[in-house]
Amino acid sequence: MTGNGPVLVINSGSSSVKYQLVETDSGTALAAGAVERIGEAASPVGDHEAALRLAFGEISAAGIDLSRCGLAAVGHRVVHGGGQFYRPTLLDDERIAALEKLSELAPLHNPPALTGIEVARRLLPGVPHIAVFDTAFFHDLPPEAATYAIDREVASRWQIRRYGFHGTSHRYVSERAADFLGRPSPEVNQIVLHLGNGCSASAIAGGRPVETSMGMTPLEGLVMGSRSGDIDPGIVGYLCHRASMSVDEVEGMLNKQSGVQGLAGERDFRRLRAMIDAGDDGARLAYGVFIHRLRKYVGAYLAVLGHVDAISFTAGIGENDAAVRRDALAGLEGFGIVVDEGRNVDLDRGARLISGDDSRTAVLVVPTNEELAIARDCVSALAGL
Ligand code: ADP
Repeated sequence: MTGNGPVLVINSGSSSVKYQLVETDSGTALAAGAVERIGEAASPVGDHEAALRLAFGEISAAGIDLSRCGLAAVGHRVVHGGGQFYRPTLLDDERIAALEKLSELAPLHNPPALTGIEVARRLLPGVPHIAVFDTAFFHDLPPEAATYAIDREVASRWQIRRYGFHGTSHRYVSERAADFLGRPSPEVNQIVLHLGNGCSASAIAGGRPVETSMGMTPLEGLVMGSRSGDIDPGIVGYLCHRASMSVDEVEGMLNKQSGVQGLAGERDFRRLRAMIDAGDDGARLAYGVFIHRLRKYVGAYLAVLGHVDAISFTAGIGENDAAVRRDALAGLEGFGIVVDEGRNVDLDRGARLISGDDSRTAVLVVPTNEELAIARDCVSALAGL
């Protein structure tokens, strides 16, 4: 039996496991939660097995028996699918072995997902487990967007290309945006700005992604909560040679102590705003650098697409921070982009229009729902078996 029962979506990160039990027809979350601080010194949750057991305990405390609720599948979010995995993939021992090999390409991101898969398969053995990849949507990026201008043989030998991430969100939001405009996705050119802890932008021409800001890893592109986004690659060698930092130290700094956190000592935009209001220079600079980079990408994607029907903001910052939306698109009237002040600050929760009636490009806020998209991918994958 496939398709009718709920899907349990598991997003297993290095120190947290997020879960959601999704009723796919209605899109309702029957249960949802997160177990954080796995493996930290003072944490009661020692490892991913303990975290998943705790999550299953929470689901059962909500009155749902996972072994009797007709669970259709367990959907696992996996960050990197490499060149090989770009469709929802039913997991068996052989494919898991192939995924383990792929961890070499994404050592920071894939191992926790694999641990989650291993534990979940053990705890829920009678159910299909399906991996859905963050890179999948961008698999067919045009070669000129996917290719780094580095030695071709080195790139090919080491699978170095731009893969793109947050694909599940960019696809979901772009489809929702087309729905909102009442137009078929193949007719709509759009820019999607996913601004959460991780931030990424994409340019989508008629339903097909043609550019995205993240690259070989989720470090490239926009300024993020604690990631630098674009830097001169020469900085890495410079720090290794001149500052005697190890490659791991530089990588750790670029991923964890950079971005808004690195500049302001704070990565949450609510607290960053309070710091700016209190006159904190570092916070003001961090915000300025964040907005400047975002505007550069919007400008670049306007040029890549030529004509843009919609720009959508999504994720924690994109959905909630009206000042970021206003500042990112301020002064672009000459390009046909006009944000309406009143609509922008409206606290409505659903997908909504925030551009003025005189704006040629529709500016939207579209709440993302990666769990629902993953759950529906699982249902389609099962239907295709
Ligand atoms: P993740 O990438 O971890 O899924 P989210 O999409 O949940 O992250 O985004 C988290 C970020 O969203 C927070 O760090 C915070 O900066 C920002 N955020 C959440 N709520 C608000 C809000 N009301 N106003 C401004 N920023 C917010």
